[in-house]
Amino acid sequence: MNNKYTLRCVLGGEAVAEHYTTACTNGHASLLRAEYTAKQLTVRELPGMFRFSDWLPVHGTLATEAGPVCFRSLALARELGLDNLYIGFNGYWPERGGRITTCSFKELEALPTVVRMREQKPATLVIASAGNTGRAFLQVSAMTGIPVVVVVPERAVNRLWTTVPAENSCVIAVKGDYTDAIRFGREVSALPEFLEEGGARNIARRDGMGTVMLDAAVTIGHMPDYYFQAIGSGTGGIAAWEASLRLRADGRFGSRLPVLHLCQNLPFAPMVHAWHAGRRNLVPEADMPDAEDAISHVAADVLTNREPPYSIAGGVFDALTDTGGVMSAVTNEEARNAGTLFEDLEGIDLDPAAAVCTASLLQACETWKIDRKKTVLLNITGGGYRRLQEDLARIPVQASFTVPAGTGIENIRKELVKMVRTSV
Ligand SMILES: *Cc1c(COP(=O)(O)O)cnc(C)c1O
Repeated sequence: MNNKYTLRCVLGGEAVAEHYTTACTNGHASLLRAEYTAKQLTVRELPGMFRFSDWLPVHGTLATEAGPVCFRSLALARELGLDNLYIGFNGYWPERGGRITTCSFKELEALPTVVRMREQKPATLVIASAGNTGRAFLQVSAMTGIPVVVVVPERAVNRLWTTVPAENSCVIAVKGDYTDAIRFGREVSALPEFLEEGGARNIARRDGMGTVMLDAAVTIGHMPDYYFQAIGSGTGGIAAWEASLRLRADGRFGSRLPVLHLCQNLPFAPMVHAWHAGRRNLVPEADMPDAEDAISHVAADVLTNREPPYSIAGGVFDALTDTGGVMSAVTNEEARNAGTLFEDLEGIDLDPAAAVCTASLLQACETWKIDRKKTVLLNITGGGYRRLQEDLARIPVQASFTVPAGTGIENIRKELVKMVRTSV
């Protein structure tokens, strides 16, 4: 029995049965959304993100100190002339309470996803990743012993590390790019013991990321007026919007939805281009010409998703439309400078994607796109990598299999299945 939440198709409005379901069973091109029975949020006495369990699609929790942190900025706020700048910090920074040891908000997605899977459809989760997501799931696997299979492009293997040995996991390196890794991941998930994690379509991932907005509203006392985030898929932007819909319905945090200010890293900014053209659909020739070349020039490569949930009902386009949102793009140089400025003023190192986001806030201030008296939430989606190395050793995770791009699963199937069985 599940009376904690109902899954609903955003487009059709019908309820859908929950078996770790990630697509509308009536075939609508739509995200599913969790509708929680608790209309008002009760924050629990827990150290990490499960204090927001009321609005997470899980019944149990995991013991973790990882969670979003929100604090009021003084130094960066003064520099930008902002009266009410709040920083949502998602990474490792114990002096501020930041205890995400894989250093990005992907861990906020991984934790509830693993719990939801175990509760709704026990299987071995398969995650295709360009780096940060894979690292987050490997860490959760390392902490809980729950097995996962992570598929990454070969050149991203060096980004996979944990702070506890990941003994029940398997990494597959694909000699190709992120898209090749996604394709191979699909083949693995089609095997009976395995389950595709689902990406943006997974309510656990979105509502996990949505805790950044919940934490901000609880800390500030109301929803912010503006929400700034760097996006690749835009899942975090959708999550922030959905969290603010719930906060609005709660009634205690204000009635105006935060305006989403989402940004991408030039020269690869397909959603910025489509949004400025007023289009709901992405047109590859127009929005991402020479995609491979453009992607190779982007500093924050976690922001280079070619198939983002932009057009789908309940996706990025709808989130921007409903909140009166804004999209912008910044160069590598602007991002680098903004990252340095942030570190000098606030005292922590940033993930390149968080530097992109900081640059977009600078740009919005310089061009007077925002009212400086209003409340701004800057989502620092990753950081503290250098700070972490002062306290904890990184344990590298090696690939168990390396496969050429475009090959089938057959060559490694037997060995993979055996490996996962013995680890379970
Ligand atoms: C994945 C990632 C992003 C982009 O998040 P989406 O909302 O999923 O596009 C931004 N910053 C960091 C550090 C990330 O790892």
